[in-house]
Amino acid sequence: MIIAIDGPSGAGKSTVAKAVARELGFSCLDTGAMYRAVAWRALEDGVALDDAETLGRIARDCEIAFLHESNDPMPKGVTIGGVDVSSAIRTSEIDRAVSPVSAVPAVRAALVKQQQRIGRSGDYVVEGRDIGTVVFPEAPVKVFLTASAEERAHRRVRQNVDRGVGSIDYDEVLADIRRRDDHDSSRAASPLKPAEDAVRLDSTGRFIEDVIEDIVGLARE
Ligand code: C5P
Repeated sequence: MIIAIDGPSGAGKSTVAKAVARELGFSCLDTGAMYRAVAWRALEDGVALDDAETLGRIARDCEIAFLHESNDPMPKGVTIGGVDVSSAIRTSEIDRAVSPVSAVPAVRAALVKQQQRIGRSGDYVVEGRDIGTVVFPEAPVKVFLTASAEERAHRRVRQNVDRGVGSIDYDEVLADIRRRDDHDSSRAASPLKPAEDAVRLDSTGRFIEDVIEDIVGLARE
């Protein structure tokens, strides 16, 4: 079974997806980490972010794998071509590079294929932008999670501190979130939009525990 959680950056998808997965005994698939890994490889190799052909090749040829500790269904990190990039993909540089990379149709096609293969191997909470619309349109539970841009920026700043990858400037994060919202929802390839049958949840000013409970409730219906 697939639970699809889509929404803009910083709406709380990761926190919510992990908690819902733990509650239901599902695994978790963070599709954003895969786009970030491709962006990281591109920057490492000095690939221009408008070089669609090379970006597509990276997504097709570099194996992306999730790191698991013993039998924990929750991944602890991600590798691309065998390199552990768990922290390296959470920088502002990657935040900026990932939008143009994820707008390339060949990148999306390659990653969607991998995501479908992973998701079909078990019960997954899958988070991203196009999970309910493109990757798993048949998912029985689809949630479109949003929050105001300001609240999302505050959360992203706190999340970086919690992850131990250093502090980032709030105004810079807010500007980046707005830019990515624009980019993600206006791109031609799989723009960010709720699936017609998605349940829309706004987490602004809500306790995240209550949002988690709402989604677990939907899954158990
Ligand atoms: O979720 P996260 O912020 O880590 O995603 C990083 C970027 O990857 C997003 O801004 C978006 O451009 C892209 N993405 C996407 N489709 C997905 C997941 C992420 O285009 N399913």
